[in-house]
Amino acid sequence: MRSTLQEYRSASPREVHAPSVDEFAAIVRSRILRDWAVGPRRIINATGVILHTNLARAPLGPAAREAIAVASGYCDLEYDLTSGGRGDRQTRVGRQLTSLTGAEAAFVTVSASAAVLLIITALAKRREVIVSRGQSVEIGGGFRVPVVLKQSGAKLVEVGTTNRTRLPDYAEAINARTAAILNVHTSNFRIVGFTETVALPELANLAHAHGLPLIDDNGSGALLDTERFGLAHEPTVPEALAAGVDLVAFSGDKLMGGPQSGLILGRASLVNRLRGHPLARAVRPDKVTIAALSATVHSYLAGNAEKTVPVWRMIAQSSTQIEIRARSLQTQAETRGLRLHLEPGESTVGGGSLPGETLPTTLVVLPPSIKAETLRALETPIIARTHAGRIVIDPRTVGEEEESSLLEGLLAALQMTHPGPD
Ligand SMILES: *Cc1c(COP(=O)(O)O)cnc(C)c1O
Repeated sequence: MRSTLQEYRSASPREVHAPSVDEFAAIVRSRILRDWAVGPRRIINATGVILHTNLARAPLGPAAREAIAVASGYCDLEYDLTSGGRGDRQTRVGRQLTSLTGAEAAFVTVSASAAVLLIITALAKRREVIVSRGQSVEIGGGFRVPVVLKQSGAKLVEVGTTNRTRLPDYAEAINARTAAILNVHTSNFRIVGFTETVALPELANLAHAHGLPLIDDNGSGALLDTERFGLAHEPTVPEALAAGVDLVAFSGDKLMGGPQSGLILGRASLVNRLRGHPLARAVRPDKVTIAALSATVHSYLAGNAEKTVPVWRMIAQSSTQIEIRARSLQTQAETRGLRLHLEPGESTVGGGSLPGETLPTTLVVLPPSIKAETLRALETPIIARTHAGRIVIDPRTVGEEEESSLLEGLLAALQMTHPGPD
């Protein structure tokens, strides 16, 4: 309490608003929880960014949550119930992934970064990997293509230019030391205008003509077509495989909507080399990840991912559905003394996918007396968005089961406010 008070005392009165006693208590409480509570803590993501990197990217659906609970105890992680002998932790989820995608084999790691690191280390150490200059990117959080290649002991051979790379650029770089061609999804940025890239099928033909594998760092791992939801096209995993890519790597917790993990799909001979590499054990996922991933893949196999995987539910929500939810929140808040305004706005997908693409939404504008800091200090913190100097809430990323917590949270925040010292 003393250190929080001290912060308020030393801050310029113009920069911070003086909290009410209740707000102050909530802020102190929230700091104690930040430092001492068991975490991560549950929050309500009202930002409208579906894959919010700071808010744990993809939220899991009920089936994945249940699978985690089941796997938390003793489970058949490495036990074959049919034979009564030793099993492999990846067999079940691997079979589900190959059935879903038609890939020959699958291997799961703790993240897409780990997947790329494993692939390059196992297949290209002390040899060369060809990458288009326009794809030698930084994804964020320290994942930079040149650094990953260096760490793997491979030599990066950049070809083409930042904006244009053609097939002959790749062809001219192939020599006896070449281990692979790497295609990288440029993830969170886009080059527009005078640009040229080589399509995956052409790149696959070139690689195969030289007996080389084509590796695709697909990044976001879309298994469904984003165009169906009014978004731009995001390269999908099935497309990469159909194009003849030998190994495709992607995140499990981006557009796939599962737990943090890295998925590798492709040719069995290559996947087996990864599996046998010493690094494979160091990047293997735990039982909780495998359980949640298995449940997520199961949703796709059952053909109901659009309804049961939260990320796709949120993407698929129409602007009309969101407007109805926003109006209902407005009406309920009004009857309890909280006046909210609605206005059209935009949600984003986030997670390094679909840069610049938005989905139409209805924003709920909060009264100026409710501060973002107070919302963050609630029992169930609400993370809102600041838009043109105001605090707004986007219902798209708020689950239907969270609506009542959201309303109660807003009312509690309103209660804590006071007119402020004049
Ligand atoms: C997100 C991303 C990664 C890193 O994935 P993590 O699962 O966060 O490690 C790597 N490559 C691309 C293209 C990405 O979009």
